[in-house]
Amino acid sequence: MKLKRKLKMGMVGGGPGAFIGEVHRKAARLDAKIELVAGAFDIEPRKSQQMARQLLLNRRRVYNNYKEMIKEELKLPVGERIDFVSVTTPNNWHFPIARDFLKAGFNVMCEKPMTFNVRQAKTLQKLVKSKSLVFGLMHNYTGYPMVKLARDLVIKKELGEIRKIVVQYPQDWLATPLERTGQQQAAWRTDPKQSGAGCVGDIGSHAENLAEYITGLKITHICAELTTFVKGRRVDDDCNCLVRFDNGARGILHASQVSIGHENDLAIWIYGAKKGLEWHQEHPNYLYVRELGGPVQVWRRGNDYVATKSTAAARATRLPPGHPEAFFEAFANIYCNFADTLRAKLEGSKPDKLMTDFPDVNDGLRGMLFIETVLASAHSRQKWTAMKR
Ligand code: NAD
Repeated sequence: MKLKRKLKMGMVGGGPGAFIGEVHRKAARLDAKIELVAGAFDIEPRKSQQMARQLLLNRRRVYNNYKEMIKEELKLPVGERIDFVSVTTPNNWHFPIARDFLKAGFNVMCEKPMTFNVRQAKTLQKLVKSKSLVFGLMHNYTGYPMVKLARDLVIKKELGEIRKIVVQYPQDWLATPLERTGQQQAAWRTDPKQSGAGCVGDIGSHAENLAEYITGLKITHICAELTTFVKGRRVDDDCNCLVRFDNGARGILHASQVSIGHENDLAIWIYGAKKGLEWHQEHPNYLYVRELGGPVQVWRRGNDYVATKSTAAARATRLPPGHPEAFFEAFANIYCNFADTLRAKLEGSKPDKLMTDFPDVNDGLRGMLFIETVLASAHSRQKWTAMKR
């Protein structure tokens, strides 16, 4: 039966001064498929209430903590209670919150890295399967139209057999001991009890996910070095890896939070036997295609020639060419597909393939396997460490 209402979203995290919670809230409402109705927005209940006032939410749907939110939401009739929760807290909270909401029968959208370790990731994977719930993971970079085009060009074998992948995510915002100033985002990211791993978990996992998403290949072996450049810092702030993929392709993956001059310079180069691709997060509307002996082509988002090659890219595009789309839209694309899949499930129908194109619990597990393998490799004296299973 058709559901004649928006999907109801709850949020944990995203209190006053938080970064990514607000991005989720804006992105989730971009396509008018979702409305935010409830939340436990902050670790401090007072600040959660403050956020709710700012958002003009019904005070009765603002909770002191996520456990109370589960208990009280379950008392509401289906259709009034939240359909799903978005988890936008620091990393250490992802697992208990996602697990408890899944156990209570709620669908989940979770920030990355999905959990603190592989064991927890496998628990979530089992829960999602046994409860038949929808689980999205916010690897937002897979939401860009030109990333989807890149993926379709690989699927259509336009590059030929993939030989080499270079993926990077350099930043510079932790080049100084920012955490010692009390800066909120730096403080928890450099506390191993809240972040788990440092730079490798925070942004290395995005690089891993982007490479595997576009190429469809899986990393099999890693040779990694993790370094902490800022004195006294308790987690790595620089990560360099050689990687091998399951088709025999080789790669370089590096991430850094001390690379002076780089803001969010996520970029990827993919080289096949016939063609090469290049994409930059800071210039996301362009995909560069290279051919041996030929000129470099610049493919631009929003054009018909993109839609012809990639229905996924066309579906992820809102504006005509030349009007830039970027970070918010990519988040919204993850929400859009997640919402359509969830709506189909609630209506008792099967979502089509384009709708299910969003990162899920299996990608979350891949991310945790990657992080643990990098940590193991960095602590090992042997050259190659097999990807954990
Ligand atoms: P932040 O410190 O800005 O915000 C975290 C918020 O969570 C704060 O409001 C805090 O009070 C709240 N919080 C903490 N514990 C809570 C709990 N138990 N219950 C309710 N609220 C709680 O952090 P951030 O930079 O927004 O990062 C949050 C998460 O998002 C992290 O997991 C991070 O890795 C991820 N993130 C992802 C992206 C991306 O591009 N996908 C970008 C930034 C951050």
